[in-house]
Amino acid sequence: MKKIFLLPILALLFLPACLPARQATESTPQQNPTPTADPADRSIYKDGLAPAYQSVLNELPTASLYEIHFTIEGDLYHVKGSETVIYTNAEDIALNEIKFRLFPNILGGEMHVDEVNAGGTIIVPNYTLDDSLLTVPLKLPLQPKESITLSMDFTVTVPQSVELNYGVQAYFDEVLTLAHAYPMIAVYDDEGWNAEIPPQSGDVTYADMSFFLVTVDAPKDLVLVSVGREIHRHAERNGNRQTVQYAAGPVRDYYLAASPNYEVVTKEANGVTIRFYAPADQKSGAERTLEIAAKSIEVFENRYAAYPYTELDFVSTPTLALGIEYPGMIAIADRIVSPYHEYLEGTVAHEVGHQWFYNLIGNDQLDDPWLDESLTQFATLQYFSDQYGQSGYDGFRYSLEGRWSRTNNAEIPVGLPVRDYKDIEYGSIVYGRGGLFFEALRDEMGSDNFDVFIKAYVKNNSWGIATPQKMQELAEQNCACDLTALFNDWIYP
Ligand SMILES: [Zn+2]
Repeated sequence: MKKIFLLPILALLFLPACLPARQATESTPQQNPTPTADPADRSIYKDGLAPAYQSVLNELPTASLYEIHFTIEGDLYHVKGSETVIYTNAEDIALNEIKFRLFPNILGGEMHVDEVNAGGTIIVPNYTLDDSLLTVPLKLPLQPKESITLSMDFTVTVPQSVELNYGVQAYFDEVLTLAHAYPMIAVYDDEGWNAEIPPQSGDVTYADMSFFLVTVDAPKDLVLVSVGREIHRHAERNGNRQTVQYAAGPVRDYYLAASPNYEVVTKEANGVTIRFYAPADQKSGAERTLEIAAKSIEVFENRYAAYPYTELDFVSTPTLALGIEYPGMIAIADRIVSPYHEYLEGTVAHEVGHQWFYNLIGNDQLDDPWLDESLTQFATLQYFSDQYGQSGYDGFRYSLEGRWSRTNNAEIPVGLPVRDYKDIEYGSIVYGRGGLFFEALRDEMGSDNFDVFIKAYVKNNSWGIATPQKMQELAEQNCACDLTALFNDWIYP
């Protein structure tokens, strides 16, 4: 999502109660703390996926496999890393190069990669887009369906401020947020390698589904919260370091948050373990968040599809957005983690909605931000309607109208790229007018047709990437009607 307004917090948590006693958490000299799981062994992702989605482990044959090792230094804002990724060419043509995004270089920090081992050849990569795009020219073209293993070491310096891009990546107020802090393979689509410098408004990533096996080496007193499921933990008996390993996938991104101040509250909801990591003084807000999240999952499972994973983790961070979505993880601005904050319920429902529209169903968040943001605003409207009836519907609808009124209800198209909106237009049009578009679409199609359509949209695009054209065509199939005029009035320039 991103933003809605601005502020932050933190969270925290837990101790390794999850470890059986025989899984020693203390080292002995002969123990090897390095886990030996294989990222290509998809059975390690099984327990993190909801029952309804187990079959996906036999699908997505071209999904990238990342194996990443992060070492968080004692100052908590310098990170060393190594990454090995198996990339498979899913295109119909041979690829002469592979491109990675280095987001820290445009999020106020720094990331360096000196060389890349591409299939056994050491290559010095090219940097472009303000050093946020790293190009690896291949010695031999990668043919369709062919795979290549790429390995590299990298360093990250995390900014100690939240000034850029809502502070998604920062070490601030004793909270470390590592968003997109690894060399991320760009998406190859009808534009070729699709990469640009993201504007300050909006989300910065556009990614395909991948599998991640991530090992984090960090100070022992740091509470770590990660995308995916913890599969290994080891802490030095006499030293001050810990090593934790996570398996995640299929997911669209990897995110890690950490703080020495996090404590955890937990809630079980329909087979999903929901946790909130925040400082102790935010406990009541964290508990309220878990209640809202559980109800949101219930509403969205009923209306769209099952939630994909067995866990959903919230963290309180100093982000200037109200909330930010990651796969199976959500950052909530610390300043709103209070049971009585006026933005808490809408923000939590919105961010939970992104687990369907952004993660399960992906989109180009820079070119088509409305596909996830406007639809998630409408999902939030459905949450309030299902929870509170007509008064809930009317209340959230009023907030959508309020957003649109900030641009005097200008009929600016909802379907523009983020970069084409000026100033407040992005929030007003994509989050206000865009939410109201889906109400207009529902009214045009008829509620029953719309409900069938939205379920089909989720089913057809799960784990993939949706486009405006796919959405319109599917809607027209479900209403047996021509929606050209409606889309032209609201969406297209
Ligand atoms: Zn959003």
